[in-house]
Amino acid sequence: MAWNLFGNKKTENEQSDTNDPSETDSPASSQSPPKAEPTSKRKGFFGRFKQALAKTYEVLNTDIRDLVKEGRLVDDDFLKELFAALVKTDMGSGPATKIREDIKTNYRGRRVFMADLVETAKSTIRQLMDQPERPIEYAENGPTVIMVCGVNGAGKTTSIAKLTNMFIQDGKKVVLGAGDTFRAAAVEQLTVWADRLGAEIVTGKQGGDPASVSYQAVEAAKNSGADICIVDTAGRLQTQSNLMDQLTKIRNVMQKVIPDAPHECLLVLDATAGQNAISQARGFSDAAGCTGIVLAKLDGTAKGGVAIPIRQEFNLPVKYIGLGEQPDDLALFNVDTFVDALFDAEE
Ligand code: GDP
Ligand code: MG
Repeated sequence: MAWNLFGNKKTENEQSDTNDPSETDSPASSQSPPKAEPTSKRKGFFGRFKQALAKTYEVLNTDIRDLVKEGRLVDDDFLKELFAALVKTDMGSGPATKIREDIKTNYRGRRVFMADLVETAKSTIRQLMDQPERPIEYAENGPTVIMVCGVNGAGKTTSIAKLTNMFIQDGKKVVLGAGDTFRAAAVEQLTVWADRLGAEIVTGKQGGDPASVSYQAVEAAKNSGADICIVDTAGRLQTQSNLMDQLTKIRNVMQKVIPDAPHECLLVLDATAGQNAISQARGFSDAAGCTGIVLAKLDGTAKGGVAIPIRQEFNLPVKYIGLGEQPDDLALFNVDTFVDALFDAEE
């Protein structure tokens, strides 16, 4: 695999920071890859974040650099302009206020330079997001059941394809459940991915009961000794309460097969929706019992700052980010790498 998707499968010789240039693979392993590989892996990982956040980086850094050209006195005017530049990334007024206040505390009445601003902003964002990498948490026994929810078009089915690809690359057997029976195209789309990636898929009739498809998918995974079962769900029903009832029903039938299922309930959010992604999250976070977020479509948006309030407001970890439409366009979310990619130029 080109970069870290499962978190640090730590050995005693490994360190936890994927960004740490001193990190090496365990010398204890006779299967150790050639020495150059950890570096290229690291570059690949940072490079992917960098690429995905290119537009956000551009907006943020162009504006801020313009503000502090040759140093700038930290006064009220400056702080106001800084705030305006920060909120353009859709980080929201809470985080932008915190960064502004930290700059004020650190530099009020002094001249500030780009490097100073970046250092403070990075450290504030790291504090605000404060989360370790959070890969998928596996069931202790039997298949790990992952339920995926989110509004139509957020990127659920594509993210399921990416997760499936990640698991299959890791040698795991995957069963998919086409629980979005509401839209015929959704079932077809997931079926195409399953065939392409080599996963089993359980489908029902269009308009059929998603809970019954989910039940059958979990049962098939259990009976066939699969490692992973991922269930797609509808993004929109007649009303929000219909949708939430359906998600609850899906969850309940899964538990008839595996009592502690689903082991993960991932909420897929569309990063291009910026602050609207936050209202989407609000609609799901209570009722659906989510365990983490996949932030899709981070590539191609200048609103990548939205990862910050999402993490803050919902107290849910951002687990993975979507970086494109291909099955390998997925990365495990890492706060340090995210923050570096927001502010540092390409290495
Ligand atoms: P769903 O309705 O939630 O299942 O959403 P889909 O998975 O069908 O995705 C909706 C659209 O967004 C499709 O055209 C996908 O190719 C696209 N998409 C999904 N994830 C990403 C991503 O990470 N990056 C980009 N650029 N496009 C994505
Ligand atoms: Mg879909």
